[in-house]
Amino acid sequence: FYKMADEVFKAQQATPSDDTIFSKILRKEIPCKFIYEDEQCVAFHDVNPQAPIHFLVIPRKPIRMLSEVDETDKLIKNWCNLVLNCKLPSFQLLGHLMLVANIVAKDLRLEKGYRLVVNNGVHGAQSVYHLHIHILGGRQMNWPPG
Ligand code: C5P
Repeated sequence: FYKMADEVFKAQQATPSDDTIFSKILRKEIPCKFIYEDEQCVAFHDVNPQAPIHFLVIPRKPIRMLSEVDETDKLIKNWCNLVLNCKLPSFQLLGHLMLVANIVAKDLRLEKGYRLVVNNGVHGAQSVYHLHIHILGGRQMNWPPG
C-alpha cells in the first residue's frame, strides 16, 4: 500500500519537462545497462521492479506522453529527424515499441504471458515525462489494476 501511494504521490508531483532522467540515460549521462537497443528505442530493467521481470521500452525520440502523439508529429519531427536520426513517424514508432516489447519478453522467457502498461498523465500515475512502455511478467497479474 505504501509503495503504491508513494508512486502515485511521485506521479502527482511530476512536472512535465523536456529533459527527463530517461533523456539522461539515452545520452549516457546516467549509467544504465540496455537489454535491447536499436535506432529507434532502448529497453532496460526498471530500477523499482513491480514484478519478477519488469522492464521498460522507451523511444529515443523524446515524446513526453502517449496523449501528445499525433500523426503529424508537429514540431519535434524536423529536429528529431536531423539531430536524433529518428526515421519513423511517431505513430509508426508506437507500433515498433510494442513489437520490441514482445521480442525482449521472448528473450526473457516470459512465455506464460506478460502485461504492457503505459501510464499517461496525472490520473495515469505517470512520473517520468518521456514515453515508456512497462512490461511486467514472471508472476500472475491481477485485474483490475489499482
Ligand atoms: O510510468 P511511470 O512514469 O510512473 O514510470 C516510471 C518508471 O521509471 C518507474 O517504474 C520507475 O521505477 C522507473 N525508473 C527507472 N529508472 C530511473 C528512474 C525511474 O527505471 N532512473
